[in-house]
Parts: sequence; C-alpha cells; structure tokens
Amino acid sequence: MISFNFDVITLFPKAFELTNNLGVITRALEKNLIEVNLHDLREYGEGSYRQVDDKPYGGGAGMVLKPEPIYKAYESIRKSPKSKTLLMTPQGKVLKQKDLARWSTLDQIIIICGQYEGYDERIRNLADEEISIGDYVLSGGEIPAISIINGLTRLLPGVLGDPDSLVDESHNSSLLEYPQYTRPQVFRNMKVPDVLISGNHKEIELWRKEQQLKRTFNRRRDLMNSNEIKKFDCD
Ligand code: SAH
Repeated sequence: MISFNFDVITLFPKAFELTNNLGVITRALEKNLIEVNLHDLREYGEGSYRQVDDKPYGGGAGMVLKPEPIYKAYESIRKSPKSKTLLMTPQGKVLKQKDLARWSTLDQIIIICGQYEGYDERIRNLADEEISIGDYVLSGGEIPAISIINGLTRLLPGVLGDPDSLVDESHNSSLLEYPQYTRPQVFRNMKVPDVLISGNHKEIELWRKEQQLKRTFNRRRDLMNSNEIKKFDCD
C-alpha cells in the first residue's frame, strides 16, 4: 500500500528523474512508501500549440502562466482525505524543517511548479500554502518541488534505516548538529578530539551540547531562543 502520494504539476516532468535517483528516496519508491505522480502541464495547454503562458496584462517583461491549464491539471488529480496543495514561489513562506514534519502526517501533497515570470494571480487560489525554498530566484519550481519531496520522504516511517538519525540532526531542534568524526583518528595532522575517544558517554554528551551551542551561536544566532543565547553568554 502506498502511504504517501506526491502529485506534481510541471512543464518539465523530466526534471523529476533526479528524485528517483537519490539514495534513500529510490528505496522509498521501491518499497512503495511513496509515489510521485507527474502531471505534464503541456498536456493541459490550449489550442494546437498547447499554449500554457501568455503576455501579462498591463505590459512588462516575460510571460506568465495562464490559469486554465493549471486549473485543468489540478482538477484531474484525485485528492486524498489528508491532502495539501503547495505553490512554489519565491514570494512564499520560506521552507523550514518544521513544515516538512507537519506535512509528513498527511497522505498527499500536490505541488504546483511555476516557470517563466510566474503565475496569473488567480492560480494562487488553488494553494493551501505558498512556499519558497529561500530568498533567491530559480528559473522554475521543479528544484524546489524536488527539495520538498526529498526532505519530506526521509521523515516518513520506514524510510531511513535508523530513525534515530532524525533526532539529533540540524534544524530538528533550534540548534545545529555537533561536529562528527569517523576513522582514522589522525588524518593529515588533523586529530579527532580526545573526548570522543574517551568512551565517557556523559562527557561526550556534554561536549556535543556545548559544540552545538557554540556552532549555532557563531553561524546561525537567528535560530537560537533567548534562553540558549543567555546560557551561552554566561558560560
Ligand atoms: N517573477 C517571479 C519569479 C518567477 S521565477 C516573482 O518575482 O515572484 C519562476 C518560477 O520558479 C516561480 O513561479 C516558482 O515556481 C519557481 N521559483 C523560483 N524561485 C523559487 C524559490 N526560491 N522558491 C520556490 N519556487 C521558486
């Protein structure tokens, strides 16, 4: 039984070959934990040229996606009981790990990918949420959609070999992950910190927490709550 469906409306279905070739995601597809259904917008285009875009009213650069093809593609999708529709746009709310966690309890995500200069404004009415993957502009919504499929799939039960790896990682709490090392102990004069080889689990835990605080304080103070910042400042 498929537990999670991604339905994607896109002009470039080929771009999604990448989703099928990304380790953990490939396994989730093979195990039927997810299904990625691609809806080629071109097939819903108008006239013999299958037109999907047009010039903006009022003038201005570029072309915008017409409403009719996207509405038709959207209406062709069978909706599950627990479904949400996301519109990929640099004007949306910036994607956070907690959004992925929130959506992982659904059973379907419908993703609308833009191209060109963007959308006819009426297309926004289809969306439950408008999502940006960061404050920069890409040429289309395919890479943002792949990011969401990838990030959400790894949170689904049965996808990761060791579910504990989700607990400690960056962005799961407000702190970034601590530094990690593996063998060898010394590599080109760079040594693994002694505490990690000490076998003292209490010490290791303390060291990791401190490193997390230090690292987040130096790199991403914006992620920390005031208590954590205060605690760090006093130490
Ligand atoms: N002129 C538009 C941007 C168009 S970019 C504007 O200023 O809002 C073309 C398409 O790429 C968008 O419709 C969207 O689907 C996608 N896209 C580009 N950057 C994105 C981002 N940071 N996050 C999500 N989608 C993005």
